[in-house]
Amino acid sequence: MTPIRIAILYFVIGALWILVSDTLLYRLVDDPVRLTYWQSVKGWFFILASTLLLYALAQRLRTVLSRELDVKRQHLAVVRRKAYTDHLTGLPNRRFGLRAIRRLIQRAKREQKHFCVMCLDLDNFKQINDTLGHSAGDQLIQAVGKRLHAFLTEDEQLVRHGGNEFLLLCADVEHAEEIDKRAGEFVALFQEPFLIGPMPLRVTASIGVACYPEGGEGQGTLMRNADLALHHSKLYKNCFKVYESTMSRAMHYRFDLEQKMREALEENLFEVFYQPIYDPHKSCFTGAEALLRWPDDEGYISPVEFIPVAEQSGQIRALGAMVLARACHETQQLSERAGRPLSISVNVSPKQFANDHIVRDVQAALSASALDPGCLILEITEGVFLSNAAETGEILNQLMELGVSLSMDDFGQGYSSLSYLRKHPFRYLKIDKVFVQGMDSSGQDRALVEASVAMAEALNLQVVGEGVETATQQEALKELGVHYLQGFHLARPMPITDYEYFLLSAQVS
Ligand code: C2E
Ligand code: MG
Ligand code: MG
Repeated sequence: MTPIRIAILYFVIGALWILVSDTLLYRLVDDPVRLTYWQSVKGWFFILASTLLLYALAQRLRTVLSRELDVKRQHLAVVRRKAYTDHLTGLPNRRFGLRAIRRLIQRAKREQKHFCVMCLDLDNFKQINDTLGHSAGDQLIQAVGKRLHAFLTEDEQLVRHGGNEFLLLCADVEHAEEIDKRAGEFVALFQEPFLIGPMPLRVTASIGVACYPEGGEGQGTLMRNADLALHHSKLYKNCFKVYESTMSRAMHYRFDLEQKMREALEENLFEVFYQPIYDPHKSCFTGAEALLRWPDDEGYISPVEFIPVAEQSGQIRALGAMVLARACHETQQLSERAGRPLSISVNVSPKQFANDHIVRDVQAALSASALDPGCLILEITEGVFLSNAAETGEILNQLMELGVSLSMDDFGQGYSSLSYLRKHPFRYLKIDKVFVQGMDSSGQDRALVEASVAMAEALNLQVVGEGVETATQQEALKELGVHYLQGFHLARPMPITDYEYFLLSAQVS
């Protein structure tokens, strides 16, 4: 019943009561003294009845209200739980994490305590998602959440920060050794594979740590610095890094470079230089290695500096495709003008092997330029086999089927595993310049070059000596039977117009 109905009912009953009872009383009682007495009894009766009615109504209202309040409270608790819980893992979510950090800061200020925030991110998660599908990715995140949660101590909280990132909030940690030990333990938790579906999946994680108050006194700064430390650990993967103030500068430089690189790519500012390659047995230049150049106000930014940044930011694919396209096109044009085929060696980063884009990029460069695939040499380093040897092998075979040649660059620098050379279809082996340059002074380096040449011969590989800086090195390499030479002594890397002029004058002389 609505309040207005109750009021009307009360008014009607009250009015009827007064009318009926008064009429009855005047009819039944004549004596004025008794009439006054009964009027008063009637009044009291009315007050009593009204009071009882009001009491009953209030009581009912209270029951209804408290029932409604209970329902609302339960609803509120569900909404709050949902607002602070991650639906995939059931763990506290990012919003909860930020609130928890604020509370930890307040407590640490009050009680002069320390704590740290660890940002944990799964390595190569995108690759897992792309190859195994999103459902496997979700299962992996759930399994990681469970494993981390089971490992927490009383003073730690685990939060899913979003995507493949988790936050570990460790209260009451005082010493750097304690933090290092704990972060190391979290990284080591990933040594055991995860069982996703029928197969065990090996995943590693990187962690960035920021400690209060050294790593930031506010929630925003702490989070930013933990993230910065995470970016640093991501450069190496499967490790942790604790935030240091120098990281900001290094990171700013990187971000800046990344941004500038994006603009340079859009505006087509990158240049391709060519360093001629010499055949000492036929005494002629047979082609060149394409080397990227990024002009800036003070000259050129070295590829050694920007290639790793491009690899990290994913821009290497666009850069690599651009070098391939331009090098093939310019070499084809030059070959036509020179009236003879010229080879072109293009460096390919291991990151370009993350999927089979490289095959499509090579195909596109060859068909757009009409260059003979036999003239294209792809230079790769051993790093390419470290991440995913099986898939890389498959991609190398596909590249071979296109008719291009493969060259193992910087041989001697890395693991120098012979098995890679034996298993995969390499045609060239480039001895690293460190050994070529060491030949003058070090017998060991000379022996190493000799051994490399002998081994290459046994494996039917052609040897290129790079970094030739003196006539003595040139002679020594020729004597050892090295097939091709490259280095400042013969020619420096140069723009295409200079390269054309260089080839013409070399032909004439
Ligand atoms: P790399 O492929 O081993 O290239 C040879 C490097 O040695 C070049 O350095 C070249 O300028 C330098 N060099 C050649 N002759 C001599 C010499 O006689 N003495 C000395 N000291 N150095 C010599 P650069 O151009 O700075 O390139 C460095 C590295 O950057 C390259 O090493 C390659 O790994 C990478 N890089 C360059 N261009 C590209 C590219 O287009 N894509 C990719 N992925 N990497 C590239
Ligand atoms: Mg190279
Ligand atoms: Mg090299």
